[in-house]
Amino acid sequence: MSQVYERVALIGLGLIAGSMALAMRRAGLAGEIVGTARSAETRAIAGELGLCDRITETSAEAVKGADLVVLCVPVGAMGAVAAEIAPHLAPGCTVSDVGSVKKAVIDAVGPHLPEHVHFVPAHPLAGTEHSGPRSGFAELFENRWCLIVPAEGTPEAPVARLRALWEGMGALVDTMEAEHHDLVLAVTSHTPHLIAYTMVGVADDLRRVTDSEVIKYSAAGFRDFTRIAASDPTMWRDVFLNNKEATLEILGRFTEELFALQRAIRKGDGAHLFDYFTRTRAIRRGIIQAGQDTDAPDFGRSGKKT
Ligand code: NAP
Repeated sequence: MSQVYERVALIGLGLIAGSMALAMRRAGLAGEIVGTARSAETRAIAGELGLCDRITETSAEAVKGADLVVLCVPVGAMGAVAAEIAPHLAPGCTVSDVGSVKKAVIDAVGPHLPEHVHFVPAHPLAGTEHSGPRSGFAELFENRWCLIVPAEGTPEAPVARLRALWEGMGALVDTMEAEHHDLVLAVTSHTPHLIAYTMVGVADDLRRVTDSEVIKYSAAGFRDFTRIAASDPTMWRDVFLNNKEATLEILGRFTEELFALQRAIRKGDGAHLFDYFTRTRAIRRGIIQAGQDTDAPDFGRSGKKT
């Protein structure tokens, strides 16, 4: 793989930026990787791990002379970071981000950017429940989708170049319109996270089942909720505050379906339950056929009893 950008600046050095740095380096996609983070502690850890060629104290310094700047901070912090870097961006550079919500990020970042840069927002659909610079790994984006959401009127060349970068990191790339992205993600990611948070919260509140029983017998399904519910609170607070409409729409539909299932259980309507579960099983098969998960029992866990 050959170099796509001369100097990439990563603003924020957590799971996503750390993984990008490692994946870019592995494939030789950037001449130089410059990084910065808000706290001295994160900058020190990133330095110790050798994530970047150079780490700067401020975002303003990091973006100087960069031909790609990627905002890798929580969605709610994107606007303030954009305002800080705007006066220091090199003419012709591309500004991108990795935020899990697109419309709100475009509205928050776009107005700060000067005319002489290209704004090409993106979202890699890859992550784990871990955060911080130590959690990054080079394989995170392999065979995962990255959705690029170009602002209206963006020329083809900067979009194609960003696509080449993500493909070089192993991702599959699609382009999508921002509002549609937010609706799709409300279905596939945001609402499922909210449901996982709720289920774990319910188990915690329920006094008739002890905490030790919940932990001991969690392999029966609950364990997978707890993994999702261990995700970073700041990131997820910002996702819900910034993808309000789509999440509320999907949550409304979810509640209706839940009531229908609740009614079927109460009335002993086995046919309804069976048909419903048959339909959902087909969705799982589709995900496996698309190569987005493993067919191994228990999500490929090693077979050891837990
Ligand atoms: P992370 O590991 O928690 O790292 C976040 C980084 O942002 C840290 O370097 C942190 O700096 C910095 N930061 C936090 N609050 C800030 C603020 N108010 N101002 C400036 N910098 C701030 O997060 P991540 O998982 O990499 O997520 C980064 C972005 O990727 C988010 O927008 C998220 O929506 C998106 N994303 C996440 C996933 C996922 O599964 N995790 C997947 C796809 C996209 P300090 O360490 O110095 O505090």
